[in-house]
Amino acid sequence: MSVFSASAFEQHERVVFGHDAESGLRAIIAIHNTNLGPALGGCRMYPYASEQDALEDALRLARGMTYKSALAGLPLGGGKSVIMGDPAQHKTEALFAAMGRLVHSLNGQYIIAQDSGTTTEDLKIMARHCDHIAVTEVANAQGQMINADPSPSTAYGVFLGIQAAVRQQLKRQQLAGIKVAIQGLGNVGYRLAELLAEAGAELWVADINARSVDKAVQNLQATAVASGDIAALPVDVFAPCAMGASINDQSIKVLQATIVAGAANNQLAEARHALALQQRGVLYAPDYVINAGGIIDVHYLRLNMQAEDIRTRVGVIGHTLSEIFERAAEQGDTPENIAEQLAEERFKGVVEPSKLTAQA
Ligand code: NAD
Repeated sequence: MSVFSASAFEQHERVVFGHDAESGLRAIIAIHNTNLGPALGGCRMYPYASEQDALEDALRLARGMTYKSALAGLPLGGGKSVIMGDPAQHKTEALFAAMGRLVHSLNGQYIIAQDSGTTTEDLKIMARHCDHIAVTEVANAQGQMINADPSPSTAYGVFLGIQAAVRQQLKRQQLAGIKVAIQGLGNVGYRLAELLAEAGAELWVADINARSVDKAVQNLQATAVASGDIAALPVDVFAPCAMGASINDQSIKVLQATIVAGAANNQLAEARHALALQQRGVLYAPDYVINAGGIIDVHYLRLNMQAEDIRTRVGVIGHTLSEIFERAAEQGDTPENIAEQLAEERFKGVVEPSKLTAQA
């Protein structure tokens, strides 16, 4: 297996392979860059077809976290871990204890968080063996400990991102009367719909779960749309909040919205679709910038910050996106390319970390 010549290898600082004979743990921790701070990133558990697939995934995701945290104005670097195994079959307490010990051995260079295939409960087991865990529990208003949920912060960040895009593209300061099509009314999408409805936007919504759609129709006066039609509506904003790759050759052909701004990860099916959107006059909010409310939430919860103050910190997303959109317009480049440049300016040392936190 090759590491330095892996296709996703890009000057990663450190790649750690962990094995525990007793529990059967086989894990990889990829640390891409720690110039701005310790590498925070989730732990995926997945039955990878090969070790090379697991490595490529860890390398690619770790790099993405460096860019995401830099643009979120956080004093964090980028890292990610993967556990090779089927979450439906191979989870044991010993496995997560071993993973906790492995992360602990890195002395805080990597902070582990939840990702697909792992749960809050898995992280709580790791926390018995490791100090470097992103918060999994918070106290509710009654003082009971409940699982932390970053989705409301993610939704609020997407809301601010839509405002920034509307200012840039439509020269409108308010969202009242703006037409938005939301694909996916899950934890993030439904909260986003509520925020947009409060701001006076008109909503069209689609979800494969009919109950969520009914709720939005009843409570938010949204119009229900079939999942297959949501990307083609004559609206101002298309907000993908379900799965990845919703911007592809087919959807770009039928898209009538002039803004694409939503929470979903990996919205572009291929990198070339950023340019395809620009060529059609569509303003695209890079997904990892607009959906960073969750990581901002996780970071500040670790510092015991109160919810209201965290909300203020999420405000950085609107400012960063405005800067990206303005630079993209000036340079005739895609927001996706400008976001990469801006992140690199930050984590490669042009802007001091202290200034980044001051901006948030
Ligand atoms: P979720 O699972 O709660 O919601 C996803 C919703 O999309 C579900 O209601 C599901 O029924 C619906 N859906 C699935 N396929 C669909 C289709 N073809 N058409 C329409 N609806 C469909 O997930 P979430 O936490 O709300 O996250 C939404 C997206 O945002 C995901 O891509 C996630 O990776 C990304 N994201 C979430 C967070 C967060 O804080 N939760 C942070 C960053 C990014």
